[in-house]
Amino acid sequence: MNKNLLILSGPSGVGKGTVCQRLRQALPDLIQPVSLTTRMQRPGEIHGEHYWFVKPCEFEAKREAGELLEWVEYNGCFYATETAQVRRALEAGHTLLLEIDTHGALTLKAQFPEEAYLMFLTPPSLAILRQRLETRGSNSPEDIERRLQHAHWELTQQGHFDLSLENQHLETTVAHLHAQIQLLMS
Ligand code: 5GP
Repeated sequence: MNKNLLILSGPSGVGKGTVCQRLRQALPDLIQPVSLTTRMQRPGEIHGEHYWFVKPCEFEAKREAGELLEWVEYNGCFYATETAQVRRALEAGHTLLLEIDTHGALTLKAQFPEEAYLMFLTPPSLAILRQRLETRGSNSPEDIERRLQHAHWELTQQGHFDLSLENQHLETTVAHLHAQIQLLMS
């Protein structure tokens, strides 16, 4: 199969980051580009590892210069995948794993209909999603409300994805996606 642009999406707090981390440990050949964001760096986040944290004017300059493959305004901040990182990896024959929001996932599917494979994670319930956002402790109450509002829309989009999976047990989710990705990479 020619699916070398694997995209993991789903509402904030659903566990995308942990799942991606586990998949990259299990499949070290996967390349995960580092996104740009204008949001504030949280304690523990490393510039160049979790994100490239940039000023709004730097983001705008890159967008104007056509350097962004896709971008989204999410919760008052901007997030983007840089074109160069993705093209370089694809040209070198690598498989990429992107952890991005639902809007970005759908944009990339439209741009790369042959290469993109869209995976969507759902929470067991919205109450559990709220609980996860609250217990991770890195978001203000207002931020959590906006993320939950966006989650409603994101959940309506899962029918556009190639695979939709409830993230109830981390191990089961990782095992399922691992097997699916191995099939896509074979
Ligand atoms: P957070 O602020 O929690 O790190 O990220 C907020 C949302 O932005 C998450 O759903 C995350 O997956 C998404 N996101 C991170 N990087 C990108 C990106 O490059 N493009 C898009 N479209 N979304 C992104």
